[in-house]
Amino acid sequence: MVEAKRINYGSSGRNAGRYRYHFYTKENVEFAKEGIPYLLKLCKDLPLNPLCMKTGYLWILDDEKSKDVISRAHSLWSSEGVGGKFLPCNDFDFLKIEEECYLAPQDGSFHHDYLSLGMYEAIKDHVKVIIGEAMRLKVSGGKIVGVEVNGSIIPADVVAVTLGAWTGHFMKRNGIEVPVEPEKKEIFVTEDLKFRVKPLTISKRIYFSHTLKGEIIGGVEDEVPRGFGELDISVERSLSFTRTLRSLVKGAEGIRILRGWSGYYEMTPDHSHIMGFSDSWPDGLYVDAGYSGHGMMFSPYSGKIMADLIADGVKNKFTKIFSPQRFEENKLIDERMVI
Ligand SMILES: Cc1cc2nc3c(=O)[nH]c(=O)nc-3n(C[C@H](O)[C@H](O)[C@H](O)COP(=O)(O)OP(=O)(O)OC[C@H]3O[C@@H](n4cnc5c(N)ncnc54)[C@H](O)[C@@H]3O)c2cc1C
Repeated sequence: MVEAKRINYGSSGRNAGRYRYHFYTKENVEFAKEGIPYLLKLCKDLPLNPLCMKTGYLWILDDEKSKDVISRAHSLWSSEGVGGKFLPCNDFDFLKIEEECYLAPQDGSFHHDYLSLGMYEAIKDHVKVIIGEAMRLKVSGGKIVGVEVNGSIIPADVVAVTLGAWTGHFMKRNGIEVPVEPEKKEIFVTEDLKFRVKPLTISKRIYFSHTLKGEIIGGVEDEVPRGFGELDISVERSLSFTRTLRSLVKGAEGIRILRGWSGYYEMTPDHSHIMGFSDSWPDGLYVDAGYSGHGMMFSPYSGKIMADLIADGVKNKFTKIFSPQRFEENKLIDERMVI
């Protein structure tokens, strides 16, 4: 395992720790229907407890666009057995507003650090970790034979590129196009408040939810130009988050921010992940990246699919659906529900 900085440096140590079955496309709903139960089982098996909990997701339908998107998605979700409910928002004691809401009770939360460090804890005696930046793939006769790290070649007949937001950059450096771009996202954590916001609540401006510790965690829903930049947080966004939170949640009128952090969403053109290999690549080269904001919940199951493929040659149907070849073949997935 080669890591440039430290284990859990990337988005896996910087996310909001939420899981859902509710996506815009059938492909991602079906992936979630296998991936989320796998995640929940893993929560019980890991040596650290990632505190997986069913809390629900709650959409505030405060504009025509969100009403339209959720109404369409509701038919798909119901046909897939994960339908939710339209309810007045004031059925939820913590909300101050009169709009219509949509509750997806099947979704939930976990603690991202315990999940990734729990997975690391489970395998650490069986892998060698090399701290250094992977630079170049070494290819001979159309096959992968190694990867250059810290000026030396590590011999390998298989390389799986799982570099999150850095995947597109690494592959490009090696002459291969894999469309994964970084989009910086900020997260804020407030001082604590008596527990009331159980579901992850999504409005057109912000998303937020209570942590078990009593803080409210969330972020601003806006589009940020793609690219690598400073992993800091901005005054504008923290003010926008606090103002909106104060206007939505009863009892949060004077709430302040305690801390925040940022990380990258690893965006693909169809907002869906890329896993497997391409026939035009050297033999032995695989990718698993580009989760576009929903990789913490999906990656344990993807890891299993990739391991089955690489170690045992077992091809899961999802390696075809989410294949890197879909961009050349124009078989895009059109996921629109990025939170
Ligand atoms: C603010 C925020 C909120 C999010 N909320 C959620 C959520 O609620 N639920 C959810 O499921 N997902 C969420 N995500 C998305 C999720 O965090 C990511 O999809 C997931 O963590 C990606 O995991 P990864 O292993 O692919 O990449 P990362 O965890 O980013 O790991 C990539 C690693 O590669 C290393 N690296 C880069 N280049 C090199 C190189 N050349 N050589 C060696 N190492 C290298 C980096 O140092 C990094 O540690 C969120 C993300 C952010 C930023």
